[in-house]
Amino acid sequence: MKEAQPSTREMERINWMEFREWVPAKIDTVLLPLGTLEAHGVIANGTDILVPVAMAKQIARQVNAMIAPVVSYGFTGILDAYPGSFTIPENVYRDYVRAVLVGLAKNKFRNIIMLNGHGGGQTAILSALAQEVGRETTTRILVVNWWSYCSDIVQEVFGEDGGHAGNTETAYMMAIDPALVMEARYTGPEMATAIPTPNTWSAYPFPSSILLYKEGEGYPKFDLAKAKIYFAKVNEKIARLIQETIRKWDMAGL
Ligand SMILES: [Zn+2]
Repeated sequence: MKEAQPSTREMERINWMEFREWVPAKIDTVLLPLGTLEAHGVIANGTDILVPVAMAKQIARQVNAMIAPVVSYGFTGILDAYPGSFTIPENVYRDYVRAVLVGLAKNKFRNIIMLNGHGGGQTAILSALAQEVGRETTTRILVVNWWSYCSDIVQEVFGEDGGHAGNTETAYMMAIDPALVMEARYTGPEMATAIPTPNTWSAYPFPSSILLYKEGEGYPKFDLAKAKIYFAKVNEKIARLIQETIRKWDMAGL
């Protein structure tokens, strides 16, 4: 027998009466994608938004979760001077995301999974909020920074380390929709800069929007077959992390 499913897992598409039938009795986990608008080499400015939204849609059923509307505007940082990018002031961002998390807890979700698409200062804000709001609302909150957590997969698929707007995000975006990747605009390695080791140098604006985690590695690749493998492996690894974390929270009786 096929297991019953809600008509949609997206919170902006479901009706309140159907929501009440499912949450929290049959679904007590929610995926919250968070991104920002930021220049990304030759891929779309909304990469950090589109990736976690696509990821949530891919894994929601597997982890039996609803999907909250994405928090699109974020805390960008050193790339916010690039055209079409911007940043929300830190205190405003923090308070807004806190209110979203509290709202999800009020809606009776027990497990809140933040699928974060953006690095820099945003990751620190989100992990601090997870602890604060988790404590206040007695919910269980996981923050996933997918590109770091899946650094083994970029090694496995591309045989090298990753990069911001480099191989990792380009592959994931290509798998979502090749039209989001403007390969013709890629003029070569001079478009990228390796992230400086601490205390060597820093710059604002950062001189490139492609940032390599390791000198000489992580440049964008435009290989659709590898992109699809990368996409599938990343989604699978994130889904497993969520399932494992919930299982261990339950085991510990938290
Ligand atoms: Zn990004």
